[in-house]
Amino acid sequence: MTTKNAPHRAGRHFLHIPGPTPVPDRILRAIDQQVIDHRGPEFQVLAKSVLSGIKTIFKTTQPVLIYPASGTGAWESALVNTMSPGDHVLMVETGQFASLWHKMAIKLGLVPHLIETDWRSGVDASVIEAKLDADASHTIKAVCVVHSETSTGVLSNIAAVRHAMNRANHPALLMVDTISSLGSADYRHDEWGVDVTIGGSQKGLMLPPGLSFNAISTKALEASQSAKLPRAFWSWTEMLASNETGFFPYTPATNLLYGLQEAITILNEEGLDNVFARHIRHGEAARRAVAAWGLTLQCVNPAEYSPVLTTVQVPAGCDADHLREVTLRHFDLSLGMGLARLKGKVFRIGHLGDCNDLSLMAALTGVEMGLALAGIPYKQGGVDAAMAYLVESASNSSTKAGVTIAA
Ligand code: PLP
Repeated sequence: MTTKNAPHRAGRHFLHIPGPTPVPDRILRAIDQQVIDHRGPEFQVLAKSVLSGIKTIFKTTQPVLIYPASGTGAWESALVNTMSPGDHVLMVETGQFASLWHKMAIKLGLVPHLIETDWRSGVDASVIEAKLDADASHTIKAVCVVHSETSTGVLSNIAAVRHAMNRANHPALLMVDTISSLGSADYRHDEWGVDVTIGGSQKGLMLPPGLSFNAISTKALEASQSAKLPRAFWSWTEMLASNETGFFPYTPATNLLYGLQEAITILNEEGLDNVFARHIRHGEAARRAVAAWGLTLQCVNPAEYSPVLTTVQVPAGCDADHLREVTLRHFDLSLGMGLARLKGKVFRIGHLGDCNDLSLMAALTGVEMGLALAGIPYKQGGVDAAMAYLVESASNSSTKAGVTIAA
């Protein structure tokens, strides 16, 4: 920890919340540069590089807008650029982040139709299809879903949502929040026919918080031309016009863009498919630990396990926040807290971004020791189970110590 005036703590801090995630040294060094003139030629080269490079991460050939804002800003941008006051939107409450986006839609004067879930499951595409089938007059202007619900550890099937919308032959825009999946779970903006994808810098992209993104389709851009919600800072029009020349309509977060350039390079060096495989493997190892501890996963459907985080229930009567306090105090390990209705009932293990086998094992070891110290009933052997899986799957892993090994 680097808190000013705090006594030195030996070793490193283990940041295993599901974002922000640890920032690789290469990215820290890329950011650690003198600020440059954001209207000068050097900046223009940087901007053109990141505006083009970020498309590979979203798997799109269409424009991606970069805001100096947290993910919440990019949610707002998606809505205010495409919707008009009183427009109906279909949203699925997969957990706390979907719930916050829903509240934002109400504040912006939209009329959301909320499909509720048990916060243990992902988006049911057949329910979306039924709602759209029933909307013969095409009142619903957008379907808004969260890909990786960071509060529950549930990953929704976006391709299935697209197919459902196609089957219903409904013209609504598809908007997807990939704030905790971008750069760590497979995502395909173009192939899945997404109209607005919302991303953030502080998770799979391994950057500090402070940048967020809208990847937009031609259909979304056309909708923005007639949409009537007020927008100024978020306006796609000004941003796209400036970006065209390699600049921004206002002062950009220059040093984070240096970091973004390095993050894109790092992800492409490893190869996105290898990055996704690494996350899937770590998710499986974490879940084997949870099963051996005899604890319950928040996500009920194996097809929806998020590869980027694992949300674990503590037994009734136990306090997950006490466990988190114990792991921080004794092992300098930060775990994610239960949010909203899950407060105290679950803890979340983040295994996304710059995470390798041993960083995952450190987190799982800290959890197992923490369970003992916090007096939470559990069975020993979670760490062993995760280790056994990592050993067993090591030969299938295309990466070793984060370096891709030639076949
Ligand atoms: N959506 C998801 C899935 C998130 O995980 C988060 C933050 O963790 C947000 C939205 C909100 O983003 P931010 O906190 O960067 O504003």
